[in-house]
Amino acid sequence: MAGVPTEEKIYDAIVVGAGPSGCSCALFLANAGREVLLVDKVPSFPREKVCGDAFSGKSIGVARELGVLAELEKKPHGIVRGLALISPNGKRVDVPFPNAEGMPFSGYTIARMDTDEALFRAAEAHPKISVLLGFSPDALLKEGEAVRGISGTRASDKAKLSFRSRVVVGADGAASAVSRLLGLPNPPVEHVYSGVRGYYTGVEGLTENIELFFIDGVLPGYLWIFPMAGGRANVGLGILSSDLNKGRKHPNTMLTDAIANNASIAPRFRNALLSGRMGGWAIPLGSYKKKCFGNGWALAGDAASLVDPFSGEGVGNALCSGKYAAVAIGEAIAKSPGSAPLPAASLEKYGKLLDDYIYPEMVDSYRLQRMCRFRFLLNLFIGKASDKPDARQMLVNMLNSDEEKKKAQSPLFYLKLLLP
Ligand SMILES: Cc1cc2nc3c(=O)[nH]c(=O)nc-3n(C[C@H](O)[C@H](O)[C@H](O)COP(=O)(O)OP(=O)(O)OC[C@H]3O[C@@H](n4cnc5c(N)ncnc54)[C@H](O)[C@@H]3O)c2cc1C
Repeated sequence: MAGVPTEEKIYDAIVVGAGPSGCSCALFLANAGREVLLVDKVPSFPREKVCGDAFSGKSIGVARELGVLAELEKKPHGIVRGLALISPNGKRVDVPFPNAEGMPFSGYTIARMDTDEALFRAAEAHPKISVLLGFSPDALLKEGEAVRGISGTRASDKAKLSFRSRVVVGADGAASAVSRLLGLPNPPVEHVYSGVRGYYTGVEGLTENIELFFIDGVLPGYLWIFPMAGGRANVGLGILSSDLNKGRKHPNTMLTDAIANNASIAPRFRNALLSGRMGGWAIPLGSYKKKCFGNGWALAGDAASLVDPFSGEGVGNALCSGKYAAVAIGEAIAKSPGSAPLPAASLEKYGKLLDDYIYPEMVDSYRLQRMCRFRFLLNLFIGKASDKPDARQMLVNMLNSDEEKKKAQSPLFYLKLLLP
């Protein structure tokens, strides 16, 4: 750690939020020699985070770059090799995922309590990163039009503190205070999932595939069962918030109803027990393109609404966006040494990296998500894939290639699927 946070210094960057996007941004900046102040509202780590706990190949790649993969592997973890899709009429197809780079499997399941602690400890130990916990900004400092820093109250002693920097990165999740203080609108409810999850023991039939159950009343969302270390399962349900507003039941009720009554799910839970409480949180989707940078500020991860609209995966994009923000900030500082706030124009590289590496995937996943609203398409597609090897191969290709995802919009694709 770089020492006690100081109000005198002008940091290269203040990163608000020490989750995956914040730790990634802070570590990439610090590894490039930049001075960072990392703040989080929680008083200590580890802390709980509601999540499905799937840690994808994309996440593994960034964790490796950050040097935290070995620490993560010491935490209890499950191995993921593939995906099972279960249609509303109960047909099931299991497909392999491609292996993560350098791994004989595609991903992990690791409790976010553990993942986030490993990331936080790496940031905390870095000589270029000062850390302040129990602190949430309640105002942004301004210099002209530019953001110059943050001020707020330290929870432990109620001290009013202000910190200055060349850029403030809002990595503070779906309910981002930085985004609110900037006056940015929240993503519309059509572009947000409401998710709930709990940990169960005794779920029968777990494999090394994560399972997505498309069930009536939830489409295009789904119920998931993700196998965890030690025979536990992370079981949850995500539904579009716009659908919830149409008078549907609470997601917790939908989940417990399905566990009790759904013909594909209930038999698996005959002897299962919920351990601990259910938890819920918002999942802001990348089908909404949020403004991500401006004069003296940038947003990353959920604060920037970057979750995959089909899969609900957000950790990979949180880690990647933290990295891209750091790359752009690093280049902006190199081009303009000194201590002035970084103008919006100098951060355009961040927008370009998101446009090149994150949004194209979002567009394809959003198309797939919209198709999943149609029960008959899911029954047709998963039914055929479960019965016909070549249809299963089409599904594998579609899940693994952006080109193939695009083909799924063409009538020819369905004609091919329907042929005997
Ligand atoms: C039910 C559910 C299931 C999910 N399942 C998966 C999954 O299986 N795999 C996957 O990849 N993604 C999943 N996601 C998405 C994933 O959890 C997020 O995309 C990811 O956590 C985003 O990381 P982040 O660092 O941007 O934000 P967060 O992880 O939310 O971290 C934000 C940090 O900011 C801090 N903070 C918040 N407000 C303030 C404030 N005012 N001041 C200071 N600090 C603040 C918080 O304490 C926290 O440490 C799921 C989400 C939900 C809700």
